[in-house]
Amino acid sequence: MSRFWSELVHGLSPYVPGEQPQIPGLVKLNTNESPFGPSPKAIEAIRAAAADTLRLYPDPQATQLREALAAYHEVSPEQVFVGNGSDEVLAHAFAALLKQPAPLLFPDVTYSFYPVYCRLLGIDYTTVPLDAGMRVRIDDYAGRPGPVIIANPNAPTGIALPSAEIARLAAARRDTAVVIDEAYVDFGAETAIPLIRDYPNLLVVQTMSKSRALAGLRVGYAIGDAALIEGLTRVKDSFNSYPLGRPAQAGAIASIEDEAHFQQARSVIMKNRADLTAALVRLGFEVLPSSANFVFARHPDHSGQALSAALRQRAVLVRHFTAPRIADYLRITIGSETELSRLTDALREVLAKNG
Ligand code: PMP
Repeated sequence: MSRFWSELVHGLSPYVPGEQPQIPGLVKLNTNESPFGPSPKAIEAIRAAAADTLRLYPDPQATQLREALAAYHEVSPEQVFVGNGSDEVLAHAFAALLKQPAPLLFPDVTYSFYPVYCRLLGIDYTTVPLDAGMRVRIDDYAGRPGPVIIANPNAPTGIALPSAEIARLAAARRDTAVVIDEAYVDFGAETAIPLIRDYPNLLVVQTMSKSRALAGLRVGYAIGDAALIEGLTRVKDSFNSYPLGRPAQAGAIASIEDEAHFQQARSVIMKNRADLTAALVRLGFEVLPSSANFVFARHPDHSGQALSAALRQRAVLVRHFTAPRIADYLRITIGSETELSRLTDALREVLAKNG
């Protein structure tokens, strides 16, 4: 606290990212990073970009990257916006589209950054409870004005809606923006990108942090009608014209071009997810059906707090949230086979000790 702070700063309640501790031998399953490296071609492109040309500013429009994303997703470059991680893209979407006279709607259990942006930007919001099965129910958004943001798959539940449900949501509220945060879509959910042709109010946000293992590069993007993208660009150019450096633009393009690496990594993660889910069920956990690179699970006899603390003592880090509806759950990132067996061994030990 400082008397030099602005009133805005006093009123903030910042997002708390998962820890990044430097513990030797740590099994890190707390921030949904990929256990595999990015495409070697991306690393090569980033190295090549570390050159004399770094004295020059990067392309502020990231034209080549937007063209590559447009070709990949079968849209036009005017329908693509890129930013410094999808967190920044989301922040610009909140400012450009989601700040409206009617309160913004989002689920009571979702990405905990959404209320943080609302505070920063002075956006009024209303949360809509997930149903008893921890699912988003589109019908619960009917009859309320105001824009909507939904993570699909949702976080931290991992549960996905089919794209027909997203279409129903966008169709029912043609006069307000609908933002779909697809950070985890590549692990088995359906993208809403093909719907943007029919719904000029629909913005889809994706990231290279998870399925492309580039969390450290910070590249996220949005796809939607050109007029929505223009709104985001107006905010970006009022904030930071060069959110992506040359290495980030080059690495992202090379990643998109390496389809084989992308497909291989995501299929291993989906296989490991199925194996981990089965192992957790055998240990007595209830595991929500995940379409993401993490699972959300709780044990009937042990609190989330106690389990995450006991795992931490065994150098296994998972994410635990204290919000009332989810305090009993652990969110466990899908790691490599070795990491997951370290986790299940540690859990077996903890459950035997306290069971
Ligand atoms: N959306 C959701 C639902 C997330 O969980 C995350 C990761 N914390 C992000 C967006 C942001 O990811 P990034 O900024 O790395 O693209």
